[in-house]
Amino acid sequence: MILYNDKIVERRDVAIDIEDRGYQFGDGVYEVIRVYEGQCFFLDEHLDRLERSAKEIRLDWPCSRKDLQHNIEGLIRENQLSDGMVYLQITRGVANRNHLFPADTASVLTGYVRELVRPVEIMEKGIHTKLLDDIRWLRCDIKSLNLLGNVLLKQEAHEDQCKEAILHRDGTVTEGSSTNVFIVKEGKLFTHPATNLILNGITRLHIINLAKKAGVDIIEQPFTIDTLLQADEVFVSSTTMEIVPVVQIDQEIISGGKSGKITKALQKHFEDSIKLLKI
Ligand code: PMP
Repeated sequence: MILYNDKIVERRDVAIDIEDRGYQFGDGVYEVIRVYEGQCFFLDEHLDRLERSAKEIRLDWPCSRKDLQHNIEGLIRENQLSDGMVYLQITRGVANRNHLFPADTASVLTGYVRELVRPVEIMEKGIHTKLLDDIRWLRCDIKSLNLLGNVLLKQEAHEDQCKEAILHRDGTVTEGSSTNVFIVKEGKLFTHPATNLILNGITRLHIINLAKKAGVDIIEQPFTIDTLLQADEVFVSSTTMEIVPVVQIDQEIISGGKSGKITKALQKHFEDSIKLLKI
């Protein structure tokens, strides 16, 4: 079962129009929400970000927030989802193909769920990454459907046996192709500030809070490729990957090729916060 505007229906009963602006222009926004044991993790924060992304692209919000929350719960229940994700997207609707906003077209909201396992192996062993030029547009703070830059970068990393691309603009590290990037230097945690150049990850915000609670200094400041390569620890974060250590960047081995102390401690705090959901 999937969510189509305000109804939960069979997937085969939904036909997306060939002139849906999401399909033709990538004119829309989306969210990915993690579900652990049938419960959404940071639902409010994800919906806040979806609302913000919609506002930034001047997209009409198609329903009340309360109804959407209710439908997300219904979607999880109807599909008997335990561990997985909810994907939501809103497009500017169906209209004759024209770049200009259509005058009176209703937004189209779709949502579905998928089972996902936690990537425990890479969470423990870490990943190899590739440094690439951040070729994306200048509104990376909007979670827009336009992911072509991210797609090309992730594919290029993959073709070089790397699990993630770490991006930089003129030597300043921004984020990953689908993750935020953190480094540890002399016991302090650094990550790019939440500007137009990165997506302000919900996991990123959670990690910042966990670090503060654990007494780890967190500095939201841009850093260079040199600083990245000389870091004591590096990790990436996202809703689906949680916290994953980076043990190699191009040819450079990080943290002796293993997960670092602070990375492990934050993973433990993260795990504890998932367990709190079940209480
Ligand atoms: N940056 C980018 C470019 C992403 O696509 C994602 C994943 N949606 C993130 C960061 C991490 O965000 P979140 O923690 O909210 O999943």
